[in-house]
Amino acid sequence: MTKVVFITGGVMSSLGKGVATASISNLLSRSGYTVSPIKIDPYINIDAGTMNPYAHGEVFVTDDGGETDLDIGHYERFLGKNLSRYNNITTGQIYLSVIQKERKGEYLGDTVQIIPHITNEIKRRILDVAKEQNADIAVVEIGGTVGDIESLPFLEAARQLRLDLGFLNVVYIHVALVPLNRSTGELKTKPLQHSVQELRRIGIQPDIIIGRSEVELTESIKNKISLFTNVSVDMIFSDPDVQTIYEVPLLFHSQGLTRKLVERLGLRYREPDLSDWERFVHKIKSSDRSVKIYMVGKYTSVRDSYLSIVEAVKHAATEFGVRPEFRWVEATEVEKGKIDVESVIDSDAGYIILPGFGKRGAEGKIKVLRYLRENRLSVLGICFGLQLMAVEIARNMVGLDRANSTEIDPNTPYPVVDMLEEQKKIKMLGGTMRLGSRRAVLKKGTLVYKIYGKEVVYERHRHRYEVNPKYIDRLENAGFIVSGYSDEGFPDFMEMKGYRFYLGTQAHPEFKSKPLEPAPLFLAFIESIL
Ligand code: GLN
Repeated sequence: MTKVVFITGGVMSSLGKGVATASISNLLSRSGYTVSPIKIDPYINIDAGTMNPYAHGEVFVTDDGGETDLDIGHYERFLGKNLSRYNNITTGQIYLSVIQKERKGEYLGDTVQIIPHITNEIKRRILDVAKEQNADIAVVEIGGTVGDIESLPFLEAARQLRLDLGFLNVVYIHVALVPLNRSTGELKTKPLQHSVQELRRIGIQPDIIIGRSEVELTESIKNKISLFTNVSVDMIFSDPDVQTIYEVPLLFHSQGLTRKLVERLGLRYREPDLSDWERFVHKIKSSDRSVKIYMVGKYTSVRDSYLSIVEAVKHAATEFGVRPEFRWVEATEVEKGKIDVESVIDSDAGYIILPGFGKRGAEGKIKVLRYLRENRLSVLGICFGLQLMAVEIARNMVGLDRANSTEIDPNTPYPVVDMLEEQKKIKMLGGTMRLGSRRAVLKKGTLVYKIYGKEVVYERHRHRYEVNPKYIDRLENAGFIVSGYSDEGFPDFMEMKGYRFYLGTQAHPEFKSKPLEPAPLFLAFIESIL
């Protein structure tokens, strides 16, 4: 029987609940249990694919083509395992399926209501995903904060599930902020007391409390939390600020959380083997030499917009014992002339031309790319980044004035990047891009082939446009060669021949990078800068 651990959040969002959930999943998995981490997003969108990074941070893409919340990325990285689109549940998905069932007549005769129809659907989904993935334990993070209107049906379902499955099979963990009053140096527990009260009002008494704070919780603070929340002191844990998020599982484990949780679930405790994880964390923390990485994109003020790329860079840099130092370049500012291109050209650094959509900022990226290519610096173009590399080369090396992507200029005389044929017929925009894991066959003798060390590779995709096959001959004659094609014949990897590292990919290699298994392209990119 599947056991379920629910993780709720209190006081405020963006506390690191996703990292806490990923860390707990990591510990349970390393204790020998199969874990299915699930993220619940209480918004009405069916998935994160239709939201922009300002609203929601990065859209993470799974092998099976799900456009999910970025927490799924944390889970994959902490578990070292690929998940499915079904690991992300939204209010939109729940209501859509209940309404479709109602139309089919599955509830004939009934008044369809939040309780029990919506809550049943929520419980069914959680248990189905866990069953599908043969999980011993589902670790379910309920997005948002206790007290939000949107999350109520999910909390209600969580409450009911203990009644359905029994006391030993369901555990509630509450992660809440314990703010530090800087003027008195005191940790304040009142906000946490209130969020627990709110949970109890809904009918959920937490079994475990994790206090998110700048510093560790003291014994007296734990005693106070215990008294007001009815949770025994040995079930209260600290989640203080740390140098790297990858330290959090070790921190939880050192406080005894793994054993307490496993035993609370009525399972046999086996000491988890954390040695490789410890080595990785030690290496991150002791990397003192730095490597400069310029990130050229359009949502640079919201760092979570490019979360997986940042993490992939960290994984690769750590492998070489160096620490990445990110410099963010806002392409829209370059475009408007507010940032001088030469001021961001740094011969010691590497550059990532970030993924993106739409016209804004594109000319800024093209401007930067020209300088980078002319100076032969290390450049990695990801998705839109590759497409703009092709546009820049078409304009400045092939001599096709006003060459462009039809996404940016539909009337360009030279559509060097154009919409995929299969995309032209599609009218619905949600979940209809070319998505998920795709096969590419690499050409022997290219840098990309050398990097992967094999002919057939799989990376994840999320795009509607591609480098137009009609222009490949001209681009290749200018030195920008195709190093790998997708099965459908699209250029999935391109590189400047003879350059140290001037390379673009239509894929998103960042999504598959794991701490203990960095992505090959990122490793080679870092190596080329060093
Ligand atoms: N906008 C481009 C496309 O749809 C690139 C997308 C991306 O960078 N993920 O093809």
